[in-house]
Amino acid sequence: SYTSVSDLSNMTSIKIEKLIRDLTKMGFTNVTHNYILSREYVELVLSSYNYKVEDQTSSLTPETVYEELRSSVNPKNLKKRPPIVTIMGHVDHGKTTILDYLRNSTIVSNEHGGITQHIGAFQVKTPISKRTITFLDTPGHAAFLKMRERGATITDIVILVISAEDSLMPQTLEALKHARNSGNQMVVAITKIDRFSNPKQREAAIEKVNLDMMNHEIPIERIGGDVQVVPISARTGENMELLEESIVLLSDVMDLKAESGPQTTLEGYILESEMKKTTGNVSTILVTKGELRKGKVLICGNTYCKVRSIKNENGQDVSKATPAQAVEITGWKDLPGAGDEVIEAKNEATAKKYVAKRLAVIQTARESENVDRLNEQRATKALSKLKKVSESGEGLQNSENDPGVEENGPKKVNFIVKGDVSGSVEAIVESIASLGNEEVKCNIVTASVGVPNENDMKMARITGSKLLCFNLGPLPHEIVNNKDEIEVAQFNVIYKLIEDVTETLTDNLKPIY
Ligand code: GDP
Repeated sequence: SYTSVSDLSNMTSIKIEKLIRDLTKMGFTNVTHNYILSREYVELVLSSYNYKVEDQTSSLTPETVYEELRSSVNPKNLKKRPPIVTIMGHVDHGKTTILDYLRNSTIVSNEHGGITQHIGAFQVKTPISKRTITFLDTPGHAAFLKMRERGATITDIVILVISAEDSLMPQTLEALKHARNSGNQMVVAITKIDRFSNPKQREAAIEKVNLDMMNHEIPIERIGGDVQVVPISARTGENMELLEESIVLLSDVMDLKAESGPQTTLEGYILESEMKKTTGNVSTILVTKGELRKGKVLICGNTYCKVRSIKNENGQDVSKATPAQAVEITGWKDLPGAGDEVIEAKNEATAKKYVAKRLAVIQTARESENVDRLNEQRATKALSKLKKVSESGEGLQNSENDPGVEENGPKKVNFIVKGDVSGSVEAIVESIASLGNEEVKCNIVTASVGVPNENDMKMARITGSKLLCFNLGPLPHEIVNNKDEIEVAQFNVIYKLIEDVTETLTDNLKPIY
């Protein structure tokens, strides 16, 4: 929420020496690399460098900041892309075994002797049609849950695995529900058929699964639906080719396309993310749009990456990655979050600008959250006080000699509290809220974190409030010497602040003749 001078320099590429010099010129004292600036100051500084932190940040959310980086859809760049497939089903029904079989079946093409890496996804060339399928191998992964929460599905097709030995089980039904809700297309693999040496028993087991599926209204082809059913053995490989071709067939029907090529702004998702001793921050990115190449600049969350290396699932260096391909990349400043969306920026300066903008949006959101929380706390407190009073019967007595906050009650003296962190703001509110007597009372108009902004000044002007600033460091000139004659007091110690409030209240007492 606060940015040091050296962070700001990193974010903006403005030389740190220049920043320090300019900040000093602007009236900041003792500025060092570690000097901390609040968001308002950051904005102030950025605007003086013509880095616009637009006002529309208020309508932006951390999720929408990068929207404008997206390129508009150009149908000319739409190209066929491989389907993205996950395998779901009951535990022990054979998901891992199928993935292992598929992964091993592609080792043939891995002549360069690379070692298969688990990077969250891999691609397979189908043996008959020679087409590409992308398999995600961690569907239960936190990243996917996070994506699902946001309503983002990167999967096109779900292979629902059902063991011929067990038929439908609780997690099968769960997977089914999920596939239906997410709008994924489905192919059913009845697996472990090699377990039945007797062909009659095998047929009977497969038939049972089919009947159970019909009972659960799975629209399989046999009853006129479009869900293909393939009996397989991942152990012997029986019908595995058929399963792969079923997916190809389905993906053709789905007519899966993505914008690709160098003209399209790259988009994708982080599947995995890890800090490695040897290479630093490494992540797997699934490309959904555009073309990933070395040197490109990507943004994700509050970090960005100048792509330094690209490796495929076999650990080999590759020059590029295209839609539906997952690759491992290095070059991130900070580790991006699994499940987070990635978007390309033109260059590092643009990336820094957008990350700074996002940070500003987050800070604004936090501040308003703090105020909301504080108001809520105060309301709860006031309510419980009121309750206590009415329960003890004191309420009536009190109301006789203290008519409350009505016209003929004590005079209210208005204050606006601004502090460095929510903890100090709360502490101040708590200590001064009850100050006063039957003649004058302290009234807190607003209390929030951060250097006074335009809204605070406006509010102070309208309500005639005194601004109480706590631990905010040097304040901008235009606040201290404001034209509206708003009183601004600065403190680093709470008891000094309380003293000042008490004095102000005393000043407001009627003169005694
Ligand atoms: P997951 O929990 O769904 O990932 O299930 P696994 O792939 O770990 O499989 C559970 C057990 O079933 C393991 O012992 C596998 O070797 C075995 N298994 C999986 N698929 C087959 C198959 O097609 N045939 C046979 N005979 N065993 C299988």
